[in-house]
Amino acid sequence: MNINTKIIETVAEFLVHAITMEDESAERYEMLADSMEIHNNNEVASVFRKLMQYSEKHADEVHDLAAGMKLPSIAPWDYNWNCPDFPEGGDCSDMVNYLMTTRQALDIAMHNEVRGRDFYAWVARESPDAEVRRLAGEMADEEQEHVNLLQAMLERPEFSSEPPMEDFDPPNMPEG
Ligand code: ZN
Repeated sequence: MNINTKIIETVAEFLVHAITMEDESAERYEMLADSMEIHNNNEVASVFRKLMQYSEKHADEVHDLAAGMKLPSIAPWDYNWNCPDFPEGGDCSDMVNYLMTTRQALDIAMHNEVRGRDFYAWVARESPDAEVRRLAGEMADEEQEHVNLLQAMLERPEFSSEPPMEDFDPPNMPEG
């Protein structure tokens, strides 16, 4: 478990975490989809748009569950998307740009879907509250479906032959 947070004890606390995560995901998928459109890779762009919509749907469901509930008013946690091989909490948004390959975009998405799934699965295991465990378990199952969807894309020969994320190099700059 690499997402630093305390054990989540109440439904309200859980919902605040889920809202933070799903809003961040929706925003990042929009960036990835825009980036793929610049590459004229409309198929992958549409996968990212779909994942963006799933995140928005999750966020809406969470907002519905939170209706009428007093949520903790402070963000308990700073959740940002990461890049593979990037320090936890480091901001790698510069990597999401027009120079990124499809493979790199898929790797970033996969990395963060796995984090999301692991977070929900961890809550589903560790929370002392049965309702929190149940909600988190449902979210974990849905995130697993997103992981599967990305996995299927990554296994396609045209993407699996591209260099993986760890070979990500900054664009070649003239030596100065
Ligand atoms: Zn997801």
